Amino acid sequence: MGDVIDEIRAIVGDGNVTAGDAVSEDDTHDECLTVAPVRPLAVVRPASTADVSAVLACCDRSGVPVTARGAGSGLSGGAVGRSDGIVIAFDRMTEVLHLDAANQVAVVQPGVTLAQLDEAVAGAGLVYPVEPGEPSATIGGTVATNAGGMRAVRYGVTRNHVLGLELVLASGDVVRTGGRMVKLSTGPDLTQLVIGSEGTLALVTEVTLKLRRRAQARATLLAPFADLPALAGAIPALIASGVEPLMLEYLDMLAMAGVTDAAGIDLAVPPTVREQASTYLVVALEGRNHDLVDADVEVAGTVLQDQGALDVFVLEPSAAAELVTARERAFYAAKAAGADDIVDVVVPRAAIPDVLARAAELAAASGALVTGCGHAGDGNVHLSVFQRDPERRHQLLDSLFRCALDLGGAVSGEHGLGRAKRDAFATLADPTLLALLRQVKHAFDPKGILNPGVGPVGGQASDAP
Ligand SMILES: Cc1cc2nc3c(=O)[nH]c(=O)nc-3n(C[C@H](O)[C@H](O)[C@H](O)COP(=O)(O)OP(=O)(O)OC[C@H]3O[C@@H](n4cnc5c(N)ncnc54)[C@H](O)[C@@H]3O)c2cc1C
Repeated sequence: MGDVIDEIRAIVGDGNVTAGDAVSEDDTHDECLTVAPVRPLAVVRPASTADVSAVLACCDRSGVPVTARGAGSGLSGGAVGRSDGIVIAFDRMTEVLHLDAANQVAVVQPGVTLAQLDEAVAGAGLVYPVEPGEPSATIGGTVATNAGGMRAVRYGVTRNHVLGLELVLASGDVVRTGGRMVKLSTGPDLTQLVIGSEGTLALVTEVTLKLRRRAQARATLLAPFADLPALAGAIPALIASGVEPLMLEYLDMLAMAGVTDAAGIDLAVPPTVREQASTYLVVALEGRNHDLVDADVEVAGTVLQDQGALDVFVLEPSAAAELVTARERAFYAAKAAGADDIVDVVVPRAAIPDVLARAAELAAASGALVTGCGHAGDGNVHLSVFQRDPERRHQLLDSLFRCALDLGGAVSGEHGLGRAKRDAFATLADPTLLALLRQVKHAFDPKGILNPGVGPVGGQASDAP
């Protein structure tokens, strides 16, 4: 194996490979609470597509597993490498290569973070609207997980904003898909196939992204509800009203207390309302100017009152910004409170009360605490599970995943399968679908070197048909 690492050192330069004990602890894990850190053979930091291509060709020849790594902010263990493999970290490929304001397109390297991209496009009055809660996440990582986030209810998820990719296949061959145009009708769409594939089909070395005009005005409403079914009922009503919210986030009582306490925010909800509230809806609205947003605030406020909100508060911009940031950091608040797992499941949005009622039943039966928040407009709930016993936790989650499927949903809406949910997906998925996915995997990566153990078919050599 030393020969392979020497070969890789010769490709990317000695200083861009760390091996053995020199591998930093940071590069051994992501943010998933249940996947243990693994020290790979080496962490390799390429500077170009040519570097990635040469490294992959070398690994493919030698059968060395390869795991791509962006910022390591993933929540499913997808960026955790293997002890017999290398990790390719993209933190030297961080250039915004082209900003095409006329076509509202940016072409970026995979290591560009969401925060860097926002800074690069803001001056042109543009925005990349996909905002998973972690601004340090990279474009490569968000493409590989099809990241969603709070603004998906209005703008969609990563796959709705990727126009083209440059990919390095396991063999080291480089292919380009899509381009700067907004439509394409030239056969199956390989861009979409690779999005969400968690580094198991190809490594992403360049991304062409669709941008949007930056909104000039925003308002944020906070609506406490006495119970979840009432809150859930308000969501279709809000959407039917035509206001097109930017964010529709729910937080249960414990999650709201957790995020506001952790951030030291007081939203000035009167005690009489707070005492009756079991759940909160945060509605953000944005538009071209304040008049348009004010008109939407009127409509949304009326709908929320009609749907039984205990009250509706229009937050001051500073309080709204603090609350949104605190909500983005809900994961860290739950982790600090000792959560044993934090999972996302997705259901059709009208089924949110059903999945949460089932989660409460399962928690009671298991002697666990399950609390959470989520992208209510997308039917995507994020649950913090406090159950120390791994077996009981596993049973609880298995029943929860089955419930999500029964309700017409899926075991993950945005965090991916990674290592954490791979087995749950494989157990519950249609065998014909799994067989087809294995064939797709084999076509891209016949030796199974890309991220083995991650994703729907794992990518082990033994998975190849
Ligand atoms: C506080 C917090 C809040 C979050 N909120 C959200 C949220 O609201 N919505 C959401 O969707 N996610 C959320 N996440 C999860 C996370 O931010 C996303 O999954 C993000 O897309 C991961 O990006 P990353 O650069 O950190 O990727 P990593 O974690 O490094 O990698 C993720 C996956 O992508 C693969 N990968 C990375 N780079 C490449 C590449 N160049 N080519 C091929 N494969 C690659 C990795 O192998 C791995 O499988 C949150 C995370 C945190 C910590």
